[in-house]
Amino acid sequence: VLKTGVDRNLLTFHKIIEGCREGDTDAWRSFAAEYTPVLTGVAGAYCSIPVTVETAWRDVLRGLADRDFAALKQVDAQSDREFFVALRQSLLHQLARGAESEPRSGVTESAAALEALSGLLKQFPLLHRSVAFLVLAGYPEATIEKILRISPAIAMKSVERLNAEFYPELRGGAVTEWQAVWLAMIDRMHAGGSADCVALRQLIRVLDGQFGWYEKDPIERHLASCLHCLETWVGLQEVTHWMRYAVALTPERANELISELPLKAKPKNRVSLFRRAFR
Ligand SMILES: [Zn+2]
Repeated sequence: VLKTGVDRNLLTFHKIIEGCREGDTDAWRSFAAEYTPVLTGVAGAYCSIPVTVETAWRDVLRGLADRDFAALKQVDAQSDREFFVALRQSLLHQLARGAESEPRSGVTESAAALEALSGLLKQFPLLHRSVAFLVLAGYPEATIEKILRISPAIAMKSVERLNAEFYPELRGGAVTEWQAVWLAMIDRMHAGGSADCVALRQLIRVLDGQFGWYEKDPIERHLASCLHCLETWVGLQEVTHWMRYAVALTPERANELISELPLKAKPKNRVSLFRRAFR
């Protein structure tokens, strides 16, 4: 039986995550090689300093490996996209924490700012809201077009209103300063959410077109008023985009990323230890 690409990916995902939970070095190397370019690709839009992104990603990896892989064992992901979305959230959280400590002038993020954004976005159709989020993250128009598979020009009126009404003075200033504010706001959105929120698995089904309009309608209505879910929705589309375009790291580079993690020795090392013991 020929396996489809999706089946093969699922198999690889389960193999990798199971191996990583056991501290298997080969599994971690595959994980680092395949996941790093996607996550650092996404994060590159939110933080334009590559060294900062790399440091934050290393912190996320260390967090997954710490305490006998406790955090990794708690990850409830049935597919690679679910896992990517969870990792994106962790990585953006790390970046937000790092940016917090840096001095900045101008508007600081607050619950009021999120309310203002929510009020503005409510007046936009769903697609325009996704465009607005990607504009705020700093994606260029050509990339937004690829992520959403539509031309952002159709959301021009909404983008114009966003640019005119939502922190124009700050977003016209230093890029890193705006990025710190936006990361803090996203962090607040992630922490929000309620019992009515849409499960990530459902959002994936909507994105894959596996829902009829009668099922989709309540979800779209929820996305109109919940920034927490809208952010997840946009994040899901982002990781889906980067999964299509990212190129895996070389084994050497992947080894370098995992070199400081508390992993099991490679099988061949175990054999040589065994031999040494019984010599
Ligand atoms: Zn929600």
